[in-house]
Amino acid sequence: MNPSTDILKLTWKEIEALPKDRTILFLIFAPVEEHSHHMPLGVDLILGETWKNKAIEMISARNPDYNLLTMPPIPFAQGSIKGFPGNLHVSQRTIYRVSCEIIDKIAEWGIKNIVIIASHGEPKHLIAIEEACDKINKKHGICAISPMGAFFSYDELGIDLNFPEQVKEQLKKYPNDFHAGWIETSAILDIDENLVKKDYKNLPDTKVEEKEMIFPDKVNKKIAGLGHIGFPRLATKELGKLINNNSAEYICKVTLAFALRLDFKKYQHHSLYKIPFLRTNFIRNVLRVVGLIIVLISIYLWIKIR
Ligand SMILES: [Zn+2]
Repeated sequence: MNPSTDILKLTWKEIEALPKDRTILFLIFAPVEEHSHHMPLGVDLILGETWKNKAIEMISARNPDYNLLTMPPIPFAQGSIKGFPGNLHVSQRTIYRVSCEIIDKIAEWGIKNIVIIASHGEPKHLIAIEEACDKINKKHGICAISPMGAFFSYDELGIDLNFPEQVKEQLKKYPNDFHAGWIETSAILDIDENLVKKDYKNLPDTKVEEKEMIFPDKVNKKIAGLGHIGFPRLATKELGKLINNNSAEYICKVTLAFALRLDFKKYQHHSLYKIPFLRTNFIRNVLRVVGLIIVLISIYLWIKIR
């Protein structure tokens, strides 16, 4: 039996009748995007879907009295990898506005637990959705969380993801595996080996430091003609199984913490959330301040000259 229900199969009367505080709705928000020579454009969406489904199984086994709802994913994102066909990237502002409007609507249905699975590591994408959750939580009371930013920056936030030893070792030896490297390739191998082209073991490593990741031009130069950041050749199905289980375990844990409103705040934001220039309104706010200063100087000069 499928422990979750697709909202596409419900009537509005059935949505209305749901016990709202015992209902959790999952929404995947990740892009169609290139994943190097060896993997298809749907990797982020396939991972989000897999992790969500596994998490749903775990939640229903542990807390069977929740109604677990799913809905179709939103298949685009903010992204900075350029120069490849197949990317469905939009601006950070678009992500913010789409998130605000969609979460607002779902909150108006009365749903009190909206969990957004943004299975796409781009900080500006994650931060825009987190900003939207903050805004809607202020408007309707706490009802939405997007926990993947905290997942992707667990180390900086001091969150223990309880990685199995094998994954821990590999992360230590081959860190900065940001995109279509051993992490994502392993995870897809575990889901369906046929989705990975057999020659992934021949792809060269591309090395990008973590601090370089906020300078897209630098990254794009390093990965030109390839499309991955990291070490796809080191992927294994075995690692993938561990990674997929671990990701689902995290989503299950955070979702239950959020539904019970217990100790969930540390999962609300990416570690880079506090960096002003990664926020959606940064340029607008700078322009506002500059505009205000110009107006004040003009008024001052006008009074003096008069
Ligand atoms: Zn990806």
